[in-house]
Amino acid sequence: MTAIFHRAPRQTLPVAVTGDGIEIIDAMGKRYIDASGGAAVSCLGHSHPRIVEAIEQQARKLAYAHTSFFTTEPAEALARHLVERAPAGLAYVYFVSGGSEAMEAALKLARQYFVEIGQPERRHIVARRQSYHGNTLGALAIGGNARRRAPFEPLLIEAHHVSPCYAYRERLAGETDEAYVQRLADELEQTIVALGPDTVAAFVAETVVGATLGAVPPVADYFRRIRAVCDKYGVLLILDEVMCGMGRTGHLYACEEEAIAPDLLTVAKGLGAGYQPIGAVLVNERLYDAIVGGSGFFQHGHTYIGHAIACAAALEVQRVIVEENLLANVRERGMQLRASLRERFAGHAHIGDIRGRGLFVGIELVEDVVSKTPFAPERALHVAIKREAMARGLMVYPMGGTVDGWRGDHVLLAPPYICTCEDIERIVERLGDAIEAALAPFRAT
Ligand code: PMP
Repeated sequence: MTAIFHRAPRQTLPVAVTGDGIEIIDAMGKRYIDASGGAAVSCLGHSHPRIVEAIEQQARKLAYAHTSFFTTEPAEALARHLVERAPAGLAYVYFVSGGSEAMEAALKLARQYFVEIGQPERRHIVARRQSYHGNTLGALAIGGNARRRAPFEPLLIEAHHVSPCYAYRERLAGETDEAYVQRLADELEQTIVALGPDTVAAFVAETVVGATLGAVPPVADYFRRIRAVCDKYGVLLILDEVMCGMGRTGHLYACEEEAIAPDLLTVAKGLGAGYQPIGAVLVNERLYDAIVGGSGFFQHGHTYIGHAIACAAALEVQRVIVEENLLANVRERGMQLRASLRERFAGHAHIGDIRGRGLFVGIELVEDVVSKTPFAPERALHVAIKREAMARGLMVYPMGGTVDGWRGDHVLLAPPYICTCEDIERIVERLGDAIEAALAPFRAT
């Protein structure tokens, strides 16, 4: 009998007991390769001795000192580490305990900035369909998943949604990359103009779409055009890199590849790598100056901001990434992973798309590869893939069902940055078998 209100209460879950590199071992001694890093979190794998040591040392010194009384060395050092490597202008860090909190803080920073500079009419947030920004009320409101929002609709702030950049399904036949991204930028511009440019505060997007679409990178030049539209109307650009940031794509911040800088950038999962709950918002200097030079105080805060153990763990995670040159490994192993998946599924009747960046890879499954017709959502292929993968000792992150008009099934892979060549081969082999086993009943009917 469990007293935990589990997220899937009707399922019996294995009991995770120990971690060993890229594997989790359950109470029966069974090993699972963590090919999804949980939910794209565990970027250094499990039980990493350096992180364990850093946590222990900090716990012995000081676990917690409230930020209205003190700052701490690990929090200061972590903030410096993040801003020294950040896109231009992002000069300050606001710490929180996770991704949703980071998104809430980013929305409130954007709003307060406009209040401080005498533009209080700027209140609208524009985001994208088929996106996920968290489950707290503000983050949920801007998320582009109508089904998740539905029960809470009366409690949510008003948000507006435009199309995601999702070439596999939404680029028109014969449309060039250039024409496609221009169409998307025009859609954003028309939405801003329709709302009244002086009333729009921010546009929010994931640099590489994670859970809802399965590692979908933007088409070249998309974000440069989006940045230009935002600048034209004085709208802030908030990039959500909670999942795709902190090295997951092979660059510390995913937007480095887009050659633009957002005004606010949120990170979380890979920041603490799951060793401690921690997230952060990187804040442009202009916003910081307006708030600090204005009312002097960001009207926000949580008890565990800048928690000393969480910051010490995250700092050590980030040092390991630098010292072991892991971003290069992410890029190389990511190329290997996509190439082996393409080889394994070459000519496959139901693998519609294999995409991603670095060790952030998505596979979209379809009933028919030519028409891209998805499998009926009620058959829940993605659930069967997860079950078959777990049976084979493999964790993958499946998504499916219906999200804002998108129907279908995909699998997200986000293995640890420490993966070796052989680890990638094992992942592809087990995943290939799991997908075939999950598809067997679909083929029989
Ligand atoms: N934004 C993105 C892009 C995410 O993937 C997630 C978590 N899946 C969140 C925000 C919310 O983060 P958390 O679950 O830590 O609150």
